[in-house]
This record gives sequence, C-alpha cells and structure tokens, in this order.
Amino acid sequence: MGTDNYQPIDAAEVPRFAGHATFMRLPAVTSAEGLDIALVGIPWDGGTTNRPGARHGPREIRSQSSLMRKVHHVSKTAPFSLANIADVGDLSVNPIDLGDALKRIEAGMAAIVATGAIPLAAGGDHLTTLPVLRAVARHRPVGMIHFDAHSDTNDTYFGGNAYTHGTPFRRAIEEGLLDPKRLVQIGIRGSMYDPGEHDWAVGQGVRIIYMEEFVRRGAADVMAEARSIVGDGATYVTFDIDSIDPSMAPGTGTPELGGFTTREAQEMVRLLEGIDIVGADVVEVSPPFDVASMTAIAGATMMFELLCVIAASIRQE
Ligand code: MN
Ligand code: MN
Repeated sequence: MGTDNYQPIDAAEVPRFAGHATFMRLPAVTSAEGLDIALVGIPWDGGTTNRPGARHGPREIRSQSSLMRKVHHVSKTAPFSLANIADVGDLSVNPIDLGDALKRIEAGMAAIVATGAIPLAAGGDHLTTLPVLRAVARHRPVGMIHFDAHSDTNDTYFGGNAYTHGTPFRRAIEEGLLDPKRLVQIGIRGSMYDPGEHDWAVGQGVRIIYMEEFVRRGAADVMAEARSIVGDGATYVTFDIDSIDPSMAPGTGTPELGGFTTREAQEMVRLLEGIDIVGADVVEVSPPFDVASMTAIAGATMMFELLCVIAASIRQE
C-alpha cells in the first residue's frame, strides 16, 4: 500500500507509556472502511466456565501492545507499510445476556467483514470466536488452525447449555461454518471429562495434534502438516493464550501445565505466512489472573506475529 497508511505513534517521539492506549499505538478509527486489516477488541467473557476476566483482555492487550515496534525482526516484515491497519475499537457486547452478546458480536464483525478488511481480534473468552465465524464464514465454510490446550468441541454444560467457551467449535462445525476436514488443533492437553471427549471431533475429520506429538515432531514438521490440512482455501486462525504454558501465560481462564513456550508459539505463527487468512484472534487473556502483565504481553506479541503474517500474505496475492 502507499505512504498514506496509518502509522503507529513513534516511541522515539512519544514514550510508550504516554497517550491513549490503542492496539500497536495505531490511530483509533470508527469504521473499518479503507483498512486492509482491522484490529478489534471483543471484551466479553460470558462463556467462561471457570476463572473469568477475559472481558478485560482487550484493554490490557492494547496497553501492552505499546511494546511492539514497526518491523518483524526475523521476516523483516513491516506490516504498517504493507497494509493499512488501525484500531476500530471494541465490538458491542452485553455482559448479562449471552444470546444478545453473540448477536452483537456477529453483527459488529459482519460490519467489519463487509468492508473487505481482515479482522484481527483480541478476546474475550473463546466463545467469542463462534459469532466471529458466523460473520467471517457466512457465505462458505472456512478451514481453521487452532492453537489451544483444549479442543473446545464439547457438546453441553450445566444441564444442556450449548454455548460456553468449551463448545464453540462443535457449534461451528454443526452450523457449517468450519470444514472439519480443514480444521487442525495444536497443543491439546490436560485432564479430560471423559476418555471419549475428543471422539466426536475426530469422527468429523478434525486433526488433533496433542502436545506430546508436538514435542516429538517440532514446530516445522507440525506446521507443514497444518498447512497441508488447510491448503489454499480461506482459513481462520485462532490462538487461545492457554496453549502457552501457564509459567509464561498464567493470566487465563483454564491453565494447563505442559504447554508451548512463547518462543515455540512465535515460531509456529511465523510458519503461517502465505496461507489465505480471512481472520484471526487471540483469546482468553484474563488480566485479573495475570502476573506483571506477562500474559497480556504474550497476547499482544502473538497479535503482532499474526499481524505480520497476515500483512505479508496479503501482499503476496
Ligand atoms: Mn479455547
Ligand atoms: Mn483453552
């Protein structure tokens, strides 16, 4: 794109701790019109089954994203030169009505998608990805690369409740939003409700790469398989911060030992370049359970990693 792209505030001119917090210190705009990539917050955690607080994620990720600079140090990607990117604010939510919240999130995301901008969202709990997919995948099912400690394909909780942050991808497959044969879940681990907990997903064709398999094979091999699973088609990328080990990302709703290092997570996201990414998110950052903002820093950094591969991929088209 041109030299008139939005640019972050230069930290050599205005220090990082000064001014209004926006994603990556970009301008705050009211519409995604004219953007290539829209950074957006979804401050809602009404689908959380245990430790809450992800509703506070977007604001804290904005604050910690002031640490990001303009150029990726490995790929040399300069996302703000390659693409027009801004902070479009937070989607409208309803903290006391789950059904209404899902409708508002879908409507807000549909308005972004209608402009042609690619959304990169900060959650929110993982149920927020369901209404996002209802907007992004409205016209055809998409593939998905899903980093998480959890499959999030359970059926119901608490006597038949179908909508929690443990169920979004079961619903998304049932609704035809996700092509389960183009869905790969990486980093899955932790104790289960039932030995057959993942049978439904596997039966649909979902590829689950458990943490132990990742450790055995490494990032390059696993991501080569992930790329072959999603292929050339439209693909969503969802990054649950609990995929990272709780020693490095403790501020989250459902921590599970034995996760990715932040370095492994960065390495995997860098290997997404060239995929047709139609949207992405980083979810489950819960500042009330955080320590020294380390989880929000991890979330902001993963957003920057995603931003770089999305911007680079757009320019390859
Ligand atoms: Mn999740
Ligand atoms: Mn999870």
